[in-house]
Amino acid sequence: MKELKEIPSINNLLESIKLIPEFSIYKRDFLKIWLNEILEKIRAKIKDGYFKNYDRKKFKEYIFSQLSRKIEEIENYGIKRVINGTGVIIHTNLGRSPLNQKLLEKISQTLYSYSNLEFDLKRGKRGHRDNNLSEIIKKLMIVEDALVVNNNAAAVFLILNTFAKGKEVLVSRSELVEIGGSFRIPEIMKESGAVLKEVGTTNKTKVEDYEENISEKTAMILKVHRSNFYISGFTHFPETEELIKVARKHNLIFYEDAGSGLLFKDYLHNNTEEPIISEEIKKGVDIISFSGDKLMGGPQAGIILGKENLLKKLKKNQLMRILRVDKITYFLLSEVLKEYFKDDYPLLFKIISQDYGSLEKRCRKIVRTIKKQFPSIPISIEKSYSMIGGGSTPGELIESPNIVLAVEQPEKIAKKLRENKPPIIVRIEKKAIKIDLRTVFPIEEKELVIGLKNTLE
Ligand SMILES: *Cc1c(COP(=O)(O)O)cnc(C)c1O
Repeated sequence: MKELKEIPSINNLLESIKLIPEFSIYKRDFLKIWLNEILEKIRAKIKDGYFKNYDRKKFKEYIFSQLSRKIEEIENYGIKRVINGTGVIIHTNLGRSPLNQKLLEKISQTLYSYSNLEFDLKRGKRGHRDNNLSEIIKKLMIVEDALVVNNNAAAVFLILNTFAKGKEVLVSRSELVEIGGSFRIPEIMKESGAVLKEVGTTNKTKVEDYEENISEKTAMILKVHRSNFYISGFTHFPETEELIKVARKHNLIFYEDAGSGLLFKDYLHNNTEEPIISEEIKKGVDIISFSGDKLMGGPQAGIILGKENLLKKLKKNQLMRILRVDKITYFLLSEVLKEYFKDDYPLLFKIISQDYGSLEKRCRKIVRTIKKQFPSIPISIEKSYSMIGGGSTPGELIESPNIVLAVEQPEKIAKKLRENKPPIIVRIEKKAIKIDLRTVFPIEEKELVIGLKNTLE
């Protein structure tokens, strides 16, 4: 096989690479590994009869094209922007809440250098990393103190571990929930060292059910938001105020795991079942926690609000060192929270509140463009529903027009759309592709159209 002799040597290839800027920026050691992998494949293929009559020059061209692909593959790893055509607004698989681009630009202007993360500028001494943020929260909401941990699951764990290790926590049987795969209230409680005391039944829990189960071992009443399902029919559950009264009377801590973090009313429609954080605080909860990246519209974080003396104890728990968050999170949380002082809606609520008519107009424009190029494609607009998702407002749907593609093989088309640059994620329902523009940003529409055209060709 004369072709084997024509394969350039690694050293020869590395010499040539010195003059090719797109390759020469990489470390010699890695280039060697990649080239060896490519050459090994070539040798194997030659034995199988490929590369007939290839000379040195043709091999070199081929090797460099393969090297380009390897480098592209590496550059392609990591987090990418995707176009979310699913209509699920807080989609855990797609990074939950999107962040305002203006805030992200502010990050690059601030965090490229050092920061006052743990430094008190007034006194010139070491400060606490939660201080900056809790000042903002105290001005925004009437609450004594605030603390941030890695996510809401961590908040639940920290709170139970601090106040209820070896003691009992009363939870209604209707609230023993599982949220997204691995977060189960009974499980996390066991891990934290707290003892779960189930009270009431799945569909009915009364105040007396709590009272009857209180003993010297009881430390806390926990109320958990039913994030991803709802109970209807023959039901009864006590009001938060009633439970707070019981907790006061028996000197117990009342803790609410509110889940999603809707800070104020008026951001969602008025009769939402979603707990409103500011209202729950007014009712007198001792501690409340929620996620930063659900309805609050920020980065992943667990936000704990409540009584100063209790939060002081949380801050002293050794676990804080494990659960604390990075400066990027503090920065983003502060910026997102500052948006709530303003009249304008935060980004997430702009997405939620887009009206049907304007979404339909956007759909029509896209459908027209696609039809022009593919006159016979079965594309239409249908009324469907967006979902808030991410463990918020279970059972509440938002009417939304969808672009429907009744193609032959929707799975195959959906796969091709995922391979687009940027990837386009769609829903498949009743054997059709559905695209909800509520979660597609207007500046992404051009890319969506190009992606659709390339896929349908
Ligand atoms: C989402 C959710 C959690 C978990 O929050 P993460 O921030 O995802 O860790 C815990 N409790 C409730 C009620 C939730 O809705």
